[in-house]
Amino acid sequence: MKCPVCGSNSLEVIKSKGKKSKELLLKCEECGNIFREVVDVGKLVDTRVVVSEFEKSHKTFIKLYEDKTIYTGDLVDVDGRKAEITSIENKRGGRVSKSSVDEVETIWASYADIPARVGISVDFGGRILSHKVDVNPEFEFTIGEVAKIGNIIFKINSLKTLERKMRKGFARASVTKRVYGRPVDEKRFKYDLTSKVVVNEEE
Ligand SMILES: [Zn+2]
Repeated sequence: MKCPVCGSNSLEVIKSKGKKSKELLLKCEECGNIFREVVDVGKLVDTRVVVSEFEKSHKTFIKLYEDKTIYTGDLVDVDGRKAEITSIENKRGGRVSKSSVDEVETIWASYADIPARVGISVDFGGRILSHKVDVNPEFEFTIGEVAKIGNIIFKINSLKTLERKMRKGFARASVTKRVYGRPVDEKRFKYDLTSKVVVNEEE
């Protein structure tokens, strides 16, 4: 929306009425012009969501405006809790990072109000030491970083996210399934995950 007089888009909503199509009374913050605009907010549609919490997941539906564009990383309300969209499947069966709601087949999300549970596997030349850690969903794992877990200091050499295996770059904990590392002979590390360990599993 733009001011029809000066073209500015910094507008103040003075009044708003209507549900399906909203009639707005707007004031331009640049030139003070007051004008009306009608915006169509579309209709709410039931959108399928598979929401996960640690290893468990369940299907449900959320109501979203059909003309809204959603992105991976967006927060949505699922059963009264905040969940982050981790993947979107469209009606053509493709995985996309953004989509208009009316094109969405399924949204994959994970609750954002709980820590992200991530597997850590450190490879001692064939013998794998595995742990599960609970970290803040916003936490980022970066390939090449050195971390500590218990008395092991290791370098991250790859990541497995919900969608792919990565050999470079970084990923947020909310979309990371497993971190792969190799022990290193270093004393310095960027962070210590020891206190985050939830399950010890020997593989
Ligand atoms: Zn103006």
